[in-house]
Amino acid sequence: MRIARFSIDGNVAFGAVEDGPDGLVLDIIKGIPYADFELSGTKVPLSKVRLLPPVLPNKVVAIGRNYAEHAAELGNEVPDVPVAFFKPTTSVIGSGDAIEYPSFSNELHHEAELAVVIGRMCREVPRERVKDVIFGYTCANDVTARDAQRREKQWARAKGFDTSCPLGPWVETDLDPADVTIQCTVNGEQRQLGRTSEMVRSVEDLIVHITEAMTLLPGDVVLTGTPAGVGPLNVGDEVAVTIEGIGTLTNKVIKRG
Ligand code: MG
Repeated sequence: MRIARFSIDGNVAFGAVEDGPDGLVLDIIKGIPYADFELSGTKVPLSKVRLLPPVLPNKVVAIGRNYAEHAAELGNEVPDVPVAFFKPTTSVIGSGDAIEYPSFSNELHHEAELAVVIGRMCREVPRERVKDVIFGYTCANDVTARDAQRREKQWARAKGFDTSCPLGPWVETDLDPADVTIQCTVNGEQRQLGRTSEMVRSVEDLIVHITEAMTLLPGDVVLTGTPAGVGPLNVGDEVAVTIEGIGTLTNKVIKRG
């Protein structure tokens, strides 16, 4: 099932994305998606709503250098222990929202990533239980101010500025993430193309590693790293992240006003 969060006429709702006679529709959900919920049967066309970030995470935990070719393209080794960092909740935007180019950077980069959405509060999750704590998957763009990342020892500003975490367009709850294509285009031109099977550490490895340290809550998001091909974003660009079996997350880059 694909679950979107959206606003219509000033109200916020979750809905299941379904095929309708004239395109995709949203069947409005009664209750909250992480607990018991039912479909209301009330349907609205997707074209009539504004998509919002599909989840409101308590935290976004991101993993760096998890594809060997991408680590190499920036002159880095694959680390012995996965590099983990946070992106703040204020960095999260939805599909169709604008990425605001920050004033402290002249080198903004796209990073297409598979995002894992957590469904249950969990800590110290054993490998064989990882699938039980995952609600689903969505597309992410770990937008990075590469110049600031080089200059500053910690990446809080470089990867945590407002609008640096586009998520969406919705959460797919039935995906097997082991080997799907992940791609990024800028203005329709392909920049990144990889497969999740190229990850150094799998989704299971990463959830085990993160929950050794901290509790994950329903709605929390884990970004799993980006394949090779990262590159610049400029004001006016349209960047799209597409993951096989999920959909496409699209955002325009604007100058911060
Ligand atoms: Mg990244």
